[in-house]
Amino acid sequence: MRGNRETRIFFSTELLGWYERSKRDLPWRRHRDPYNIWISEIMLQQTRVDTVIPYFHRFIERFPTIADLAAAPEEDVLKCWEGLGYYSRARNLQAAAKQVMERHGGTVPNTKAEVSALKGVGPYTTGAILSIAFNRPEPAVDGNVMRVLSRYFLIEEDVAKVGTRTLMEELAAELIPEGRASDFNQALMELGALVCTPKSPQCLTCPVMARCAGRLEGAEERLPIKSKAKPPRPEYRLTALVEGGGALAGRVLVRRRPDTGLLARMWELPHIPADAVPGEGAGLPDGPAMDRLATALAAAGVPARPGGALLNAEHTFSHIHWNLRVFRFDAEIPMQAPAGGGVSPAAVAETAAAYDAAGGEDTTSEYRWITREDMDNLAFPNVFLRILNGYFGS
Ligand code: SF4
Repeated sequence: MRGNRETRIFFSTELLGWYERSKRDLPWRRHRDPYNIWISEIMLQQTRVDTVIPYFHRFIERFPTIADLAAAPEEDVLKCWEGLGYYSRARNLQAAAKQVMERHGGTVPNTKAEVSALKGVGPYTTGAILSIAFNRPEPAVDGNVMRVLSRYFLIEEDVAKVGTRTLMEELAAELIPEGRASDFNQALMELGALVCTPKSPQCLTCPVMARCAGRLEGAEERLPIKSKAKPPRPEYRLTALVEGGGALAGRVLVRRRPDTGLLARMWELPHIPADAVPGEGAGLPDGPAMDRLATALAAAGVPARPGGALLNAEHTFSHIHWNLRVFRFDAEIPMQAPAGGGVSPAAVAETAAAYDAAGGEDTTSEYRWITREDMDNLAFPNVFLRILNGYFGS
């Protein structure tokens, strides 16, 4: 058993008292609405509270009920999520909303088996929904909670290991005072977020400092023990920002990503893989890089003249790190602007094959010429959002 009975009771009692005095007024804490709590917990994964708050308000305003979320076009859900990253969370959320409509008549279920069967809902989120919304004595153990428990109970096992997580879940469940699961789990998360922070924990203001074994050992800074995850794999991309001319003046060419895989169905600037970013190390020089891109664009039905390098950009996904070299191009053909800014049918037909031929694995059949206003309706991954916002000056 980790810690003796007094140490455990002290921890739970002091933590709850502190939470009642110090908890933040967060929008999803104002009612115990299971839908609101579920949305907030999914948004808060890998994302800071300050970032989440405006997204949460917008999301709930746009999709006030599970039925609204389930019935919405996916494009609207992704648009509401734009900028938060980890877009599979948004897709899973909508798929789970549909499950709730079909299986549970639109009401968030309140059993472990039913909640954990929802798409995108893992052990942590299951525990968070059941405890916070329904006051069920289920542990909700994420990185914050493991950090606090590691330090308080001086647990030196590697928190990246499944066995350690199981141990933490058992310990967290045992610590929940009777009838107080909702507040206790939120208190534990709150302590990890505000006081027992990853770097420089605020031990002097911590409500459980007097019995914190990690602190008493002087080990708070080196805990939790966590083996390093594999670094994300670098990928290099030659990227084209093609400006339209003639009837397409003021527009930029974008394409939709394939239906499956990374960033599925989101919009982006056309890009092709490279061995390295031009200008860095063994990377292709800018001239040949632009020639390769121009070839790919021409084959896709968009002959374009290179205008030079614009910028480098990067973005890290959980397992991939993208390095982009962005080049400006001028579309050369006096194209008619198709209705809605879509690319001509001939270009659409040729696109996938053309990009394959150019060595790109990202094939798509949908291209559009967009204005700044069109960006209000299309969902872009963060890295392209930044580039396009910079380009359009917003
Ligand atoms: S005393 Fe320090 S290390 Fe221990 S739980 Fe509090 S903040 Fe964390």
